[in-house]
Amino acid sequence: MSVAAPDSPANSAADGVEEYNCPVAAGRVRVLLPLPLPAPLDYLVPDGAASPEPGSFVRVPLGSRRVVGVVWHGDSDGEVPAARLKPVIEILPTPPLRPELRRFIDRVAAYTLAPAGAVLKMAMSVEAALLPPPPRRVCAATEAGLAALAAPAESGVSNKLTASRRLVLEGLRDGGACPVAEAARRAGCGAGVVRGLIAAGLVGERLVPGDPPPAPGNWLADGLPLSPDQEAAARRLVARVEAGGFSVTVLDGVTGSGKTETYFAAIAAALAAGRQVLVLLPEIALGAQWLARFHERFGAEPAQWHSDVAQPARRDTWRAVASGRARIVVGARSALFLPFAELGLIVVDEEHDPSFKQEDGVCYQARDMAVLRASLARIPIVLVSATPSLETIVNIARDRYQRVRLPRRHAEAALPSVSLVDMRRERLAPGRFLAAPLVEGIERTLAAGEQALLFLNRRGYAPLTLCRACGHRMQCPSCTAWLVEHRFAGRLQCHHCGYGAPVPAVCPECLAAGTLVPCGPGVERLAEEVAARFPGARTALMVSDLLSGPRAAAELAAAMVARQYDLLIGTQIVAKGHHFPMLTLVGVVDADLGLAGGDLRAAERTYQLLHQVGGRAGRAERPGRVLIQTYMPEQAVMQALVAGDRDGFLAAEANARRASGMPPFGRLAALIISADDPDSADFAARALARAAPHLPGIAVLGPAPAPLAILRGRHRRRFLVKAERSVDVQAVMRDWLGRVRLGGSVRLQIDIDPYSFL
Ligand code: ADP
Ligand code: ZN
Repeated sequence: MSVAAPDSPANSAADGVEEYNCPVAAGRVRVLLPLPLPAPLDYLVPDGAASPEPGSFVRVPLGSRRVVGVVWHGDSDGEVPAARLKPVIEILPTPPLRPELRRFIDRVAAYTLAPAGAVLKMAMSVEAALLPPPPRRVCAATEAGLAALAAPAESGVSNKLTASRRLVLEGLRDGGACPVAEAARRAGCGAGVVRGLIAAGLVGERLVPGDPPPAPGNWLADGLPLSPDQEAAARRLVARVEAGGFSVTVLDGVTGSGKTETYFAAIAAALAAGRQVLVLLPEIALGAQWLARFHERFGAEPAQWHSDVAQPARRDTWRAVASGRARIVVGARSALFLPFAELGLIVVDEEHDPSFKQEDGVCYQARDMAVLRASLARIPIVLVSATPSLETIVNIARDRYQRVRLPRRHAEAALPSVSLVDMRRERLAPGRFLAAPLVEGIERTLAAGEQALLFLNRRGYAPLTLCRACGHRMQCPSCTAWLVEHRFAGRLQCHHCGYGAPVPAVCPECLAAGTLVPCGPGVERLAEEVAARFPGARTALMVSDLLSGPRAAAELAAAMVARQYDLLIGTQIVAKGHHFPMLTLVGVVDADLGLAGGDLRAAERTYQLLHQVGGRAGRAERPGRVLIQTYMPEQAVMQALVAGDRDGFLAAEANARRASGMPPFGRLAALIISADDPDSADFAARALARAAPHLPGIAVLGPAPAPLAILRGRHRRRFLVKAERSVDVQAVMRDWLGRVRLGGSVRLQIDIDPYSFL
């Protein structure tokens, strides 16, 4: 069995959960509320009532409010005399939160230094799930409907049935009663067809109590025949699942090697063994093609959990996960806090993806916390990537994680060739961003009837709007940030706070008309250049703010596969997951964008992102080519991309981080102070600075104004704590912050293992 890194959140994997089952002292219970309070509160159990077991959901009074919380384990400090305690109002009829999840909540809170209640809130984000579900409206074929279906083809009755009406009725007859939308989905038609059948009396509606039935699915279905490489890798993953117990396996395979199909085998093994599975994906857009492949493999949709899922579906899913009706959940990082009944496997796809790091509220890294959850549940976890994070690579080197490799692309496809376009030598007309080699590449690709992808990781039309007359720059009124023009929407927008305003007709500073000019490219501006240069090309934009949701992203991806487009322009949402067989050219328009901030992981992230997006090229028979426009061709990351030398690049990165004591060789924690006015922020920063720890192995840097010095109108100051690996940073921070009282308007955000330094 592998053990977690002692310095990772999963550092005491052997901890038991027994203490989490101990009975509650009679008469008095501790209740953790889903609020940012430092500890559980004591309540009384009404006379004669049985003491609720730990994990029970209870409704309790809090001031003038009534709040649902969870009976927590551990002894009350008994400080508040019983006479002053308020009684529990009711115990909710929901199965208790399991010890494993309660322990996970405690551990995440301890690691992130967030109040346990704030972490609990993520585990009970849909309060409606704690109450019995309202009755559901379902439809079923009526007698008349069944008769119409059974009537011979030449009889008058059945002639009334159009093909789609027939399919709906057959679906209801064979699959049983279900909501209208589901009936339409089964038949592959619109809901209007079902409504028409209802109006005709061939389908009837009724209300039924209880939760919806589990999604059908054949967990034992065979997948695609695997290649020998995949087969060998799948065998090792399946062996981990069958062995049970905690283990971390990294599925490290080049882009297009068939990693998904390979870990599907592990998922199938866990499902067949009667366990639940959690798959974490970084972005919903990526989920679209994934869901289609899952459906192909298992004949069912997994339960989904992310911010786009509507409340009623969230309620159903939460309950289905708790009761075990949902066997597999695919979701964003918050799915980690679902109350699984019998979790048997966690898969983190694209484990290196920065979006696994939550930056607000409870700051946590979902990949790391997934490892913690697996260790507490004593189950295997698989981390999947073509470009594993340096943290993961170092854990492999330390023998904490095992690695399974897929070194080749599936079906003989070769990895694309990568070359650089040295932008220092290119002469571009103003407002043009595509250099000659890339333009030529696109021309050749289009002439060959193949597809091209242009990648620019910047939404909107232009990142800066400037007055030609007075030099005024359009800035967000509440952030230290330029406003980004979104030309399709006709607005200037702040990408930090969401502020937006129409593009003004005159400069707000000097009142000159027609002097505002866009500076620099965003994808919308690139689309303009493409339309001018390649008027015959069918072009699409894949950008989150221009797509209405995951479905629209999936439709666009499908249209791309169906070759309804020749050229795709996109931001990072095109970088991952997609498989476009006819896509042979990838052009990276500004490869240096991610290096600008110069933070700790800038080079690593740039490598990962550009390697991923390059990996979209040449995934089938036709070979792929990647052209990278850069002003820094000599940079190590650019050279590594050209040479395809990921491991060499990571080794150099690791050496540099080791030498500077940076993660994963040292620890970082950030402290962000914010206040309504700069003086309060400075005052709080000075108070914290005076109390800062002076201990061996620890350096406190700051306070300094944050690069984003004002965000949403709040003035921000930062400390960065840099510590040796052996230091218990959380203990130091807890002690430090415990010694300082801050003013009312001052907020303090703690970010352990920060990824953003803004
Ligand atoms: P990765 O996730 O490693 O980038 P994918 O899992 O997307 O790669 O696989 C690349 C392509 O190869 C996909 O279109 C997938 O359907 C196909 N593929 C993978 N494994 C098989 C297999 N065993 N048989 C047939 N097609 C496969
Ligand atoms: Zn703003």
